[in-house]
Amino acid sequence: MSIAIALDGPAGAGKSTIARRAAKALDFIYVDTGALYRAIGLAASRRGVSPEQTDDVNKMLSEITVDLSFNEKGEQIVLLNGEDVSGLIRTPEASMMASAISAVPEVRAFLLDLQRNMAKTHNVIMDGRDIGTVVLPDAQVKIFLTASPEARAQRRYKELIEKGTDVKYEDVLNDVVTRDYNDSHRATAPLKPAEGCVMVDTTELDFEQSVEKIISVIKENINGTE
Ligand code: C5P
Repeated sequence: MSIAIALDGPAGAGKSTIARRAAKALDFIYVDTGALYRAIGLAASRRGVSPEQTDDVNKMLSEITVDLSFNEKGEQIVLLNGEDVSGLIRTPEASMMASAISAVPEVRAFLLDLQRNMAKTHNVIMDGRDIGTVVLPDAQVKIFLTASPEARAQRRYKELIEKGTDVKYEDVLNDVVTRDYNDSHRATAPLKPAEGCVMVDTTELDFEQSVEKIISVIKENINGTE
């Protein structure tokens, strides 16, 4: 049987970078489910579909395909209608669009099997908002990773500046707070800690300490279930 680690938490908690490293160390596949919502957000932007127009969203979902594949380095690639959109979905606009479109129940249902099938066929660390609560409620280990909004905004700001994106810290903090609110107040699959999860707060931890902490939580909990 494959092993599933559910890793949930708010935007900018460092889930993706930490999980990527932990997955490598444990020889698991890292699945970034946010990329799937981002790809659907991109499809909606391109078609001028508003998340509030359910009929338009449904029509779009019946006409698009979203898939995950992995390159030779084991990095995840997200395909929208067969096109590699992995780079295009990383802008602040794409983040906001993903957050808005992910509140639509039909969008969440559309992505459910894809996520569950990944976990059936591979040992995964799956990162998202509702992995422990909805997608993989039977995951062997559930972790809720968080940090203060300011610490998360500071990290995201640094990342964007290093990539050469022209942003202001206040705008990044504002985005973090808005997305937290949207993600935790939506009716379908809101962001919240899963029952029985281990809470990990990285506000006071640096990257290496966070990776070590996650690996030790996973090892302790897997050993109990094998
Ligand atoms: O993780 P990331 O920031 O890339 O996710 C983008 C957006 O997709 C989030 O703000 C959230 O609204 C949504 N999302 C979600 N459920 C997931 C993963 C992401 O609703 N499992």
